[in-house]
Formats: sequence, structure tokens, C-alpha cells
Amino acid sequence: MPIPLQARGSVAGTLPLLGDGSAMSAGAERRLGDRIARELYRDPDFIDDPVLTDYVQGIWLPLLAAARARGDLTPELDERFAWRIVLGRDRSVNAFALPGGYFGVHLGLLAVVSSRDELASVLGHELSHVTQRHISRLISKNEKQTPWMIGAMILGALAASKSPEAGNAMIVGGQALSAQSQLNFSRDMEREADRVGFGVMTQAGFEAQGFVGMFDKLQQAARLNDSGAYPYLRSHPLTTERIADMQSRLPLGAPHSVDVAPTATHAMLTARARVLANPGADALRGWQAQADNLAPAQALAQQAGTLYGAAMAASRLRDAAQARKQYAQLQKVVGDEPEARRQMRWLGLEIELAARDRSRPQVLALGVDVGLDLNSPADGSAASLRRPDLLLQAQIATQAGRDAVLDKVAQNLQVWLVSQPQDALVWQWLASIYAAQNQSLRALRAEAEARVAQLDYAGAIDRLKAAQDRLQRAGASNASADYIDASIIDTRRRQIEALFKEQALEN
Ligand SMILES: [Zn+2]
Repeated sequence: MPIPLQARGSVAGTLPLLGDGSAMSAGAERRLGDRIARELYRDPDFIDDPVLTDYVQGIWLPLLAAARARGDLTPELDERFAWRIVLGRDRSVNAFALPGGYFGVHLGLLAVVSSRDELASVLGHELSHVTQRHISRLISKNEKQTPWMIGAMILGALAASKSPEAGNAMIVGGQALSAQSQLNFSRDMEREADRVGFGVMTQAGFEAQGFVGMFDKLQQAARLNDSGAYPYLRSHPLTTERIADMQSRLPLGAPHSVDVAPTATHAMLTARARVLANPGADALRGWQAQADNLAPAQALAQQAGTLYGAAMAASRLRDAAQARKQYAQLQKVVGDEPEARRQMRWLGLEIELAARDRSRPQVLALGVDVGLDLNSPADGSAASLRRPDLLLQAQIATQAGRDAVLDKVAQNLQVWLVSQPQDALVWQWLASIYAAQNQSLRALRAEAEARVAQLDYAGAIDRLKAAQDRLQRAGASNASADYIDASIIDTRRRQIEALFKEQALEN
């Protein structure tokens, strides 16, 4: 992304060498990143869709592991930075690195890639901007700006880049403005991110062809002059040099241009990203027309994508009958591949839960598909559950509302949070489960943790205060179980207040 700091191009060739001490410290960069991320989490366009998050994480975690194994990601940075991806509902094609190891990815990017490999090539590139400390080097060139000002400028540039029209206007009508206030990474940095990113993605097991496929897409968009829909192209112009570099990395004889046919899984995920990026009623109705005009000659994977999108869109339009009809068609074309079947089943459960026309026992019966089988003695493998399974379990439990199920799901969510304490959405669902169990103190504490996970310390303190007030009103009549909750709440409040003070001091 364009980092709005200084005149464009003035940094190329004058970068301080790595390790010469002039780069921003990792701690300072993380604090700056936290400040920006806190705003992104508050943005109405921020989206944590469990299925798409699971898909992106399934690519992101292997990339991080490869960067560690190659030594690009040092233990110090690994520990200090967030390494978190923040998804935005925006339909433009973009991904960008932010200070402190935060990354933004637009749904528009997920909607155009033809394979996991293509997405891995973009994420590997952005990851490498951060491991190579490009951001800190750009920021430290601008010593006169306080972190607060830099944070505000980056947020301003992000807001401007969201609307393709506004972004174009800035470039076309405001060349001067853009030269004053924006800075892309230098060409050298881009070349380095291409090189390191390619190494990371191939080491992580992704196909080098993904790199080529993504370049082809960007080239096509460049030919169509489509930089409005492709902000990524504005920050990553396809110089002949970049293309030549890329081609020299491919094994000799490898085709330079490939037309990857998406798998059924991929086609469904792409459709999902498109539905979520275009949630308006007209766009949702548009899916019905596409599904009605399915050509039998179309590849089954493509049909699966269209039917998935149409069923999901119908469900969002609250037309359960239509959604079920299209889902039944989807079941016929999706094929046998286990991951494709799983994606399909997750959608089926969403449709059923949104329909809300089932009896409680019928809702409970849905749980078997996501590992929630109370009749099976072997049902103890919370570790093998994926995040969408867990979150669907939570929805099933709150709709069905039976004690044994609520207990079981609360347990599963707690197990997940032990290793993923920063998962705001899971905390939020745990709060709903506690509320359904009439455990109001625990519900408030879980809500507080959800706020902390999104760096909203003030919101967290409010909820812990409410919990303490409630305890006080209840007085000494409390059972000893409440005593344990009370001491946890006291401890957490003190810890979070310390974080809040630290945050306030930086302003
Ligand atoms: Zn780049």
C-alpha cells in the first residue's frame, strides 16, 4: 500500500542500511501498528467471517512457518509483532502490510484469485515487506512526525484507498497531493519483497505458478487500465523489471502463462468472498439469475461456485426455500473431495440456522456435522475442530439451548482460547453461551476479553466494572464460585488498566 509519508521516490537509493540503528525499534513499530489496528477493528468494514478467516489462516500460518524456517522471520520480530491479518469487506483488489506485523486483506482479492497459490504469492510478498523491515525504514526517514501523526496519515490513506473513485481522483486530479503525502515502497524494496516472498511461498509448499498466475491477473488489469478496482496495482506497478525477475525465478521450461482451473473448494470460497463483498439486495438477487442460467457444459467446479453463491445469497435474502433448493443442487455437483464437502456442509448449516424454522431437537441434530454429537462417547476431540466448526457449534447451542450442549460448547471454546487468546469472535460467542447459562459475571468477563483482543481497553474496563458492580450488589450472599470469578475480574481489571494507561501515554 502507499505509505503516506514523503515525496514519492525520494527514498529509493538513499535507504539506511539494515542494522545501522536508524530503523524504528520493533517495540515502537508495534505500538504504532496497534494504534492503527485498533481503528481498523472498529471500522464497520472490518469482517471476521469464520470460513474466509479459516481459509486465509490456512495459507498464512504455513507462510509464517516457512519465513521462520528460512530465518527471514527472526525470533525477536516473531515475538514482538502481531502477525495478524485483518480482513476488510472492500471489493477492491488489495492487500497491504502495516506497521507492527498487521496486514490488511480486502475481500476483493479473495474474490479474484484462482488458487490458494495465487493468494499465497501476494501474502508472501506483503509478509516479506515486514520481515525485511521495509516499513520501519520508511517511517524512520520521517523523524519529525510523531507516531500519532504517522498513524493518522496511514489511516487517512487507507480510508482514501477504500473507494476506487476517491483513489483515482487522488492520483489523477491530485498528483501534487499524492506526491506530497504518499510514498510507495521503493523499487528495491519491491524487488526484495518479490524475491523473499517467492522463497517463502515455495518453501511453504505453494506452487510457483501461483506467482505467475497473480502476475497475469495484474497484467490483465493493467491492460484494462483497471487500477481503480485494483489498488494493489497502484502500489505495485508491473515494471518490466519485476516481470523479468519473476520469470527468471521459474524453473526453465515452466510455462509463463497458466490458466489454472479453480477447484470446487476454491470456486466456493471465491463465491463466498463475492457475496460478502457485495451484500446489497440487488447483488444478492443477481446470483439467482446466474444459478438459473447454469450451462451444463460448465465445469462442475464452476457450477459449484455459482450454486454456493446463489444458496448463500438466497439465505441472506431470507428465502430459506430457495436456499435449500440451490443447496440440494450444490450437493450434486460438488464432488467427493473432503475439503469441498466440508465447505459445502458449513454452508448447509448456516442456511439451516438462518432459517430458524426447526424445532430444538432438529437444531441439535445439525450438530453432528460439526463434531457436536452428545450421543457419541468419542466426542472429546476439541483439538481437531476447526474454527468454523466451533462457531457453528456455538450457534447451534444458543438456538437449541439445552444445558448439556451449552456446557460442552463452552468447554470447546475455552480449549480453543487457551491457544488463541486473541480471538475476539470466539470470546464473543463464549459470552453468549455464558449468558444463555445465566452466568452473567463470566459473560461480562468474556465480553471484556473480546474487547481486549481488538485493543479496545476502555471498552474492556467498562465491562469489568459492570461485573464488579453486579458482584457488589449481590453482596455476601455469593457462593464461593463467585469468589473465584471476582478475583479473576479484579486481576484482569488491574492488568488492562495498566495497558490502557500505556496506550494513553503514547498520544
Ligand atoms: Zn510490495
